[in-house]
Amino acid sequence: MTGVELSYNSYMNMLDEQQFQIRGMDCANCAATLEKGVAQLAGVGQCHVNFATEMMRVGGTVAPESVVARVRELGYDVAATDTPRDAAATPTPRFLAFLWQQRDTRLALLGAILILPGLLFNELLPFLGWEHPLLNVTSIAAMMVAGYPIAMSAWRALRINREININVLMTIASLGAVAIGAYTEGGLVMVLFAIGEALEGYTAQRARNAIRALMAVAPQEAVRRHVCVDCAEHLGQDGYTGGPCPFCPPSEQRVSVAALAVGDEIIVKPGERIPMDGVIISGASSVNQAPITGESMPVTKRLGDEVYAGAINLEGALILRVTHLAADNTISRVIQMVEEAQEKRAPAQRLVDRFARVYTPAVVALAVLVAAIPPLVWGQPFLNPDATTHGWLYRALALLVVACPCALVISTPVSLISAISNAARHGVLVKGGAFLEALAGVRVMAFDKTGTLTAGKPMVVMVRAVECRHSGNENCEPCDDLLALASAVEQRSEHPMAYALVQASAARGVQHRYAADDVTALVGRGVWGQVNGQRVTVGSHGYFDEELPHPQIDCLAAEEAAGNGQTPLLVSMGEDYLGYITVADTVRDSSRAAIQELKQAGIHHLIMLTGDNEATARQVGAEVGVTEVRAELLPAGKLQAIEALRQQYGPVAMVGDGINDAPALARADVGIAMGAAGTAQAMETADVALLSDDLSRLPFAVRLSRAAMRTIRVNVAISLGLKLAFMLLVLQGAGTMWMAVLADVGASLLVTLNGMRLLRRPTTLGDGH
Ligand code: ADP
Ligand code: MG
Repeated sequence: MTGVELSYNSYMNMLDEQQFQIRGMDCANCAATLEKGVAQLAGVGQCHVNFATEMMRVGGTVAPESVVARVRELGYDVAATDTPRDAAATPTPRFLAFLWQQRDTRLALLGAILILPGLLFNELLPFLGWEHPLLNVTSIAAMMVAGYPIAMSAWRALRINREININVLMTIASLGAVAIGAYTEGGLVMVLFAIGEALEGYTAQRARNAIRALMAVAPQEAVRRHVCVDCAEHLGQDGYTGGPCPFCPPSEQRVSVAALAVGDEIIVKPGERIPMDGVIISGASSVNQAPITGESMPVTKRLGDEVYAGAINLEGALILRVTHLAADNTISRVIQMVEEAQEKRAPAQRLVDRFARVYTPAVVALAVLVAAIPPLVWGQPFLNPDATTHGWLYRALALLVVACPCALVISTPVSLISAISNAARHGVLVKGGAFLEALAGVRVMAFDKTGTLTAGKPMVVMVRAVECRHSGNENCEPCDDLLALASAVEQRSEHPMAYALVQASAARGVQHRYAADDVTALVGRGVWGQVNGQRVTVGSHGYFDEELPHPQIDCLAAEEAAGNGQTPLLVSMGEDYLGYITVADTVRDSSRAAIQELKQAGIHHLIMLTGDNEATARQVGAEVGVTEVRAELLPAGKLQAIEALRQQYGPVAMVGDGINDAPALARADVGIAMGAAGTAQAMETADVALLSDDLSRLPFAVRLSRAAMRTIRVNVAISLGLKLAFMLLVLQGAGTMWMAVLADVGASLLVTLNGMRLLRRPTTLGDGH
């Protein structure tokens, strides 16, 4: 363990939750010991330790010093939390080198060497007859060397937590073995357990590094461009009166990204990774945003476009104006959210943890019964009767070993953290293990239409005033006036359709003809406002059918437009109907492909929810291939639709843009928001956020979530199955103690490696392209 560098999240917010980065945990059991020990401190509300991320969260009014002191007392350490996130994760050394790094693991290694003679001649090759009293001495030495740290932490758990944890059980088992004369067994239990713990710590560290390596892609340095402003030296020269100095050349300086402020200018050369989120103020290029959004195709970026830290600049040289501090870059926020996601435990994990908590005491109780009942009640041998079967005391001691829940406890978190990290690397931010599990169970998906299935950038197709003088689509004065009136009201609206009208009136140069006030949205139906003392209404055909008479011919024209997938908007002033405007949005190709893939993935109910009219909705629905369309829904109607779908089919996911769909997203079992990276709102509000601005990663996310749940089930089965098998062997007198330890170590390793396979999932899954 290196420097005893201390730092606490904050002294100021002692009422809030505090976070500590823990060092020195080898096994998921350490997390439980820490939780219990810290929770006993006065003023601690709750304490949660995540073994996978090494984070400890403590709620309550406790002083950070007492928490740190207790952590140390329990035999662990606290690392500085506010050191910048280690970008270039230090590579994990090879296993032997890893063992050599720390005292405890060095002792384990030494113990392993000492136990070898005993293992060979007493346990494996007894028929050679080379058993010698000296072997017992080396075995006991091995037990003491490898077991010292374990016995110490057992003692701490007993003294501080008043808890019988796995270290206590291992210590009892191995001392017990020595007591009944099985010296080599006693040594082996300690050595194997210590090596196993080290191995588990090693694989956990590798998993953590693999995850950080996936995520930490933004460079740590940037080239800052400095332009001399209000140059004191040249002021007054050649009529220079201030502002950017024409005499000083811009300087360039390589600085750490942490030193950059919002508004700084940085230079990104072709082929370089972009170090900061920023806006292009000079140059143009294509940018590969795959590390953030998962999109494999490069995106063209021009003056004024936003780019993200971690993306790769391809052919052009760019000058950017920095828009976020390094810690607030999109990629940093994603990393942070992924780390926080581990804290929201999935129901599967909670179940496993709860089971593990009763499992150990139950097996210990069984061990006590096994030692007592058969000898007392049936007169069975308490000590070893002969070499082939074991006595009941031995069996009881071996059961203590079987009580270790390590493999079981580690089986779920490793799988979840691997899957969540993998998803993030592919532009899918899953905000907690619980949501990953929920996503795997989704039976039906609902989609918002505008901006989700469609591009969300509608365009005006046709303007037709009642008094229109043309038959075609040429501009005429009454139509221009109609558009001008409508856009005056829409200027104050945030609906995508409003944007279309405003753009069209600007194109015709009539956007300033009228001004509107008292503009009110008729949510899901339209908008109205006052223009020159008269109420101007722009609304859906349905709304006009209910509220305002309009000529039959326009009614038919509106229906025809709707049949073609366009949305007709009708306009009135006071009680007078003035005409209609049709607007069309384009269906994204990626939506069609995503819907198709979701069907293949076995989600049979794909439903479009929209406030738009029935005919338009049907047309768009047919184009993207959804299985069902529910149209003319007001926002409350969308909520009801979600409820109805859940009752009809089961767990529902709702996919929307996260801005005007927030209530429906919240009501669904999984709320999935889609939005270009950096749309803070989408990232913040949804359970799952798609960072690319389309649905192409959705099928991948669904398949990954299912793979994760499958892996967890397999892992739980492996660890429980092995335990059960050994329990039976031990009870029959056939299983040895050291084999039981070996099985547990093997199982832990197996489930960890199996969980880590989820890091590399897309190669076998197909990633949607
Ligand atoms: P969606 O479910 O497709 O996102 P909304 O519920 O936002 O649609 O709106 C439903 C319908 O209400 C639109 O198709 C449109 O006809 C009408 N509407 C809503 N807002 C406006 C507006 N600002 N201007 C004109 N029409 C609007
Ligand atoms: Mg909408």
